[in-house]
Amino acid sequence: MDLVVKNGTIVTATESYRADIGISGETIALIKPDLSGDESLDATGMLVMPGGVDPHTHMELPLAGTVSADDFRTGTIASACGGTTTIIDFAIPGAGQTLRQALDIRLRQAEGKACVDYGLHMAMGTVSDDRLAEMDDMVSSGVPSFKLFMAYKGSLMVDDEALFRALLQAKTVGGLIAVHAENGDMLHSLITKYVAEGRKEPVWHALSHPPEAEAEATQRAVLLAGMSGAPLYVVHMSTAGALEALKAGRAKGLKVYGETCPQYLMLSREKYEEPNFEGAKYVMSPPLREKEDSEVLWKGLAGGDIAAVGTDHCPFNFVGQKDLGREDFSKIPNGMPGVETRLPLLYHFGVKAGRFSINRFVELVSTGPARLFGLLPRKGTIGLGADADLVIWDPKREHRLTKENLHMNVDYSPYEDVTVRGYPAMVLQRGKVLVRDNQFVGKVGAGQFLKRNPIHL
Ligand SMILES: [Zn+2]
Repeated sequence: MDLVVKNGTIVTATESYRADIGISGETIALIKPDLSGDESLDATGMLVMPGGVDPHTHMELPLAGTVSADDFRTGTIASACGGTTTIIDFAIPGAGQTLRQALDIRLRQAEGKACVDYGLHMAMGTVSDDRLAEMDDMVSSGVPSFKLFMAYKGSLMVDDEALFRALLQAKTVGGLIAVHAENGDMLHSLITKYVAEGRKEPVWHALSHPPEAEAEATQRAVLLAGMSGAPLYVVHMSTAGALEALKAGRAKGLKVYGETCPQYLMLSREKYEEPNFEGAKYVMSPPLREKEDSEVLWKGLAGGDIAAVGTDHCPFNFVGQKDLGREDFSKIPNGMPGVETRLPLLYHFGVKAGRFSINRFVELVSTGPARLFGLLPRKGTIGLGADADLVIWDPKREHRLTKENLHMNVDYSPYEDVTVRGYPAMVLQRGKVLVRDNQFVGKVGAGQFLKRNPIHL
């Protein structure tokens, strides 16, 4: 063995047990007690878990006249420091671009910068015969998931026919359709009305994105998926009504899967009332909801109705970016930092708070997303032949989630007052140490593009 992780408790989505992990080259070669190797890492008192898989990030995303503040370098350093060794980001074709062109552009942006392994989803704002025909090529190029937007009227929004056609095509080619489920017509009419009335403050963002618009679109997407016979992944679910619609589909046996994000579990609508425009820090779509919604989402995570926790990581600085919308809430760039804090928050407020088991935690932050998006068993678990992507987790380590203690390239933390117990002591990717004591010690650009498998759920 080149490297042995000794004396830790291995935790996967299904079991916890004491054993050493032997790493040969980049992969896990042996799992048994009392291994030895050229080098060893002592994990006494630690949990050893598969590296986190974040299925939803937006590094250097052009939006609202600016670009999200983390690029593939800073964003993946932050991701690694928080225990996430795989991200799935997005390629988004511009007007008139083919899917292939959009993929090539995005791959060039990540190349030489990414510090953890990464996959890409393909966004589809246009669903034409040509684009549908390209989906097969995307699947064979390792991009088997496609994101469609039911919101953002006038730019990325697709209508029901487009969504339905994409679902049918995905089923044929081994793809998975992911949807942003909010009723874009409803949102557009409310935003237009409030802007015309001179409503400026961030709270109007929330008021123009009512929970009913998300519940309705989720129900519609679930029913369309059912009619098509294709699986469906609903990103960033934020509200009880949407989860109700998803559960109804699941109860009928439909292959519909939900994602939520830590911000919808941790934060609620009062944030928009913060003075001095500070509410803009929390402007994203869907917006923060009521505390009752968060409780319902926690239960969905514990009970199995929500399959994955992503972050929708899309940070914008409060000064210089969020303030583009000081005079008009509809111009506030949508998004929040999160890629670094997902595991610590879910561990502290999920596992430690008794909401779900440590194994369910691993399922939600790693194994589940890896399975849904064609990465298992290479990523998302600790097994023979898997990439040696490991988080050596110190259950006693305390960490306050202030801006200074985090690595995301943004001028605020949404969790400034939060101290968590349980944090990565060390993070490995493919057998190399990436993070030690909250310092990135890996190599910039060593992250690899992951060609994912076709998805047949
Ligand atoms: Zn997103």
